[in-house]
Amino acid sequence: MCSSFEESKTMIRRRIKVVSVPYPIRKLVKQLEQNLVNTPPLLYWYKKKILRLIESSSWSHPQIVYLESTNDCNASCVFCPRRRMTRDIAYMSMDLYRKLIDECVAIDVDEVRLHTLGESLLDPYIVDKIVYAKSRHIPLVLLYTNGKLLDRQMSQQLIQSGLGALYISIDAFTNETYRRTGRNLDFNTVKQNIHTFCSIKEDLGRKTPILSLAYTVTDDNRHEVRRFQKYWRPFVDYINISGSIDFQENPVPRHEIKNRNNWPCYYPWNTMVVLSNGEVTLCCLDINGEVKLGSVATESLSQIWKGRRYRRVRESQLHSLVDGPPLCSVCSAKPLWSRFVPSA
Ligand code: SF4
Repeated sequence: MCSSFEESKTMIRRRIKVVSVPYPIRKLVKQLEQNLVNTPPLLYWYKKKILRLIESSSWSHPQIVYLESTNDCNASCVFCPRRRMTRDIAYMSMDLYRKLIDECVAIDVDEVRLHTLGESLLDPYIVDKIVYAKSRHIPLVLLYTNGKLLDRQMSQQLIQSGLGALYISIDAFTNETYRRTGRNLDFNTVKQNIHTFCSIKEDLGRKTPILSLAYTVTDDNRHEVRRFQKYWRPFVDYINISGSIDFQENPVPRHEIKNRNNWPCYYPWNTMVVLSNGEVTLCCLDINGEVKLGSVATESLSQIWKGRRYRRVRESQLHSLVDGPPLCSVCSAKPLWSRFVPSA
């Protein structure tokens, strides 16, 4: 348990470092990056550094694999891109899931995430799925939930399943603001579920799952961030405050590429997303799975990862998105290598 806790903690810290860099530092990094983009020799050096990383064996397989348990959901949050999802509702079967976990073990995946779009706890096999992944020694298994189904029984099962980290999306401090997020969930139930989860974890003397609360900042809930942090800090391991992502709600891209010397995104070298219907897509921003990189029905994860379509996406990232997926060209969430591998 102890080493699993340490492993989980290290990975979560690494992730938090990527997604929750404080705003002043993000601003500074952004300025530096802009200057770098305008300085061709530095940019050239930077891309060479990335190429070296890609050639090293650590990038020969994905480190993180999303296995979307389901794209079904019991909420309808205003900021969630799922509102525009047109994919059929599907639940990943246990047989397919076992096959994929076995492949993840074979290629040394560090982390399996059981969500992409949708509420993972709706999956009747969710606990069995976690138990299976842990029985095959996947170092970190984590999932996101909106907390509605996190009752006493589910909390006990998750805590005992070997789950490494649990993210609960709550996004409000008061009932009034919670209602404005457009969910059809009861704020007090979710709040009580979080407290119940914490007390069961404490009673059982467990350090995992590491519990993070996720708060997506919008104009409606910005004013409650401080009170939220102050209230929840004593109960949970992490509070993850982040901005909402532009998922191309607007046909006019918010983030136009002005300089073709764009920064590569690390996702195609690091993260693989398998949707609940078995198709592999670009990243979790591809809500309808439009960029089809393969299907686990006909190929293995490794074959898809090393396949021609994945290689083309990586090449486009290294060559200023030329011939790349249109989604990358308008992406406002592109994670930058400089935040991910600062000392490489
Ligand atoms: S650039 Fe954006 S859309 Fe493209 S892979 Fe990265 S995160 Fe996904």
